[in-house]
Amino acid sequence: MDMKIDSDDFVFLPLGGSGEIGMNANLYHYKGRWLMVDLGISFPDESMPGIDVVLPDLRFIEARKDKLEAIILTHAHEDHFGAVPYLWKRLGVPVYGTAFTLALLHRKLAESRLGYKIPLHELDFNITYDFGPLSVELVQLTHSVPDPAALVLRSDKGTVLHTGDWKFDETPMLGEDTDRERLRQIGDEGVMALIGDSTNAMVDGYTPSEAVALQGLTDVIAEAKGLVAVTCFASNVARLGSIMTAATANNRSICVVGRALNRTIGAARDTGYLADIPDFVSESEASLIPRNHMVVICTGSQGETRAAMAKIAAGTHESVELQPGDTVIYSSRQIPGNEPAITKVQDMLVRRGIHLITDEDRSVHVSGHPARDELVEMYGLVRPQIAIPVHGTARHLTAHADLANNCQVKQTLIPDNGAAIRLKSGTADIIGYAPVGLLTPEGGEVVDLQSDHLRSRRRMLWNGTVTATVVLSAAGDLLTAPQVSQTGLCPDHQSADFIADAGLAVEDVICQQAAPEDNDEVIEEMVRRTVRQMAKGKFKLRPTVHVHVMRTDITGVSA
Ligand SMILES: [Zn+2]
Repeated sequence: MDMKIDSDDFVFLPLGGSGEIGMNANLYHYKGRWLMVDLGISFPDESMPGIDVVLPDLRFIEARKDKLEAIILTHAHEDHFGAVPYLWKRLGVPVYGTAFTLALLHRKLAESRLGYKIPLHELDFNITYDFGPLSVELVQLTHSVPDPAALVLRSDKGTVLHTGDWKFDETPMLGEDTDRERLRQIGDEGVMALIGDSTNAMVDGYTPSEAVALQGLTDVIAEAKGLVAVTCFASNVARLGSIMTAATANNRSICVVGRALNRTIGAARDTGYLADIPDFVSESEASLIPRNHMVVICTGSQGETRAAMAKIAAGTHESVELQPGDTVIYSSRQIPGNEPAITKVQDMLVRRGIHLITDEDRSVHVSGHPARDELVEMYGLVRPQIAIPVHGTARHLTAHADLANNCQVKQTLIPDNGAAIRLKSGTADIIGYAPVGLLTPEGGEVVDLQSDHLRSRRRMLWNGTVTATVVLSAAGDLLTAPQVSQTGLCPDHQSADFIADAGLAVEDVICQQAAPEDNDEVIEEMVRRTVRQMAKGKFKLRPTVHVHVMRTDITGVSA
């Protein structure tokens, strides 16, 4: 569909995060100016071998970056701000966010040694800031990080509430509860559209309070006999606080293992959070403390092979050693797709006689996102004319849209990444699509996941490679038997047969020419096709085939 955005159109355009959980990157347009809300990463699925991080393709806004006012970040989670270090240079605009968001971003940027400075500007809650033709106010939310914000975007066309990630929690253990009063006032002003979190739109009731997780952790640690190791997301500051409080309540010292955890805790302390937690014990001191007086907090809740928990489970961690009877707590949810990796690590623990506790056993984890009753309450406060569910897969977005319909919202619209949605009082319609895609950092650059070299790599991984070398005289006669080798195509015991058969087939196809071929590219293609056909016939695979044609004047002995 052609894209025609008039200057006067108030447009919402997600470049990532709609139809998926992760990689949030949203654009707003009004009067010819653009604003970006969030710039997050996502993690690869099993179709992306060898890829660590996935980034949104920003080519649409890169082409208009002179019209982009700023990037505003809702909160400091990787799926909302993790792509800034990789992609900021392509946009070059100032970055805005609340205190903790910027403190953590600052630490990440310092560690990534970018060699240039990104202008970071702190925003406060309940103050109106002008960004070109749009004004923006931040509303205090509760989430699992400090200082999460909803954005109120106001224009003379109407007001949009962009919720970011949130929940209601009267005992959040960190920061304040979501500012219901301010949301109600904004609702009273009149809200044209609510664009919001769908993560738990299929979960009934209210998300339990962080206080429930704190109690669960306190109980489990009280019952534990030996060492306790707890793993959670490094960015879940509320949970880190709960684990530390639970450890302290049980007279246990705390040892924090992992760079990402220390970075988050540093940023939290910079901004006044986690202030009343006693000093940690270093990894080297931890072994000097009785095991039943220690809680180790570590990364690796998703089964990441390079993270501390996987190493601790395997018995290869340099400083933390588990013994039978110790306790490991997973204070986290399983991100869909990560289950096999998590199970592998948990199996190792159980086999070693470790007492394993997950959120299926005890209340050691609560979500940071709103369940259905909270969404209903939010719609009651804000009363938007239009609901646009984001931050979810198609099923989440549909469940959220159905719920909004039941809340008497006049129109709901489920976006796809790239859809340009024009917002008008009472109606929203899609007026075109921007190009979207997936990028990944690779060798110091950011490249398209569909770039030739990454596609070749995937093909090689699934199909193996074959290399064939033919040596010809200047006249085009085969001087020696073609050399063939393979990697990853077939098991060793079948390799010799394949190589011999492929060599003969290559020889045949060259010798059967009516006249010697003098174009090397034609010979290469001929050989490639012959080898491919043989691999397909024998193994049903399409390997990457490299052909080297060499010519020499020296007359050799024909094979
Ligand atoms: Zn979040």
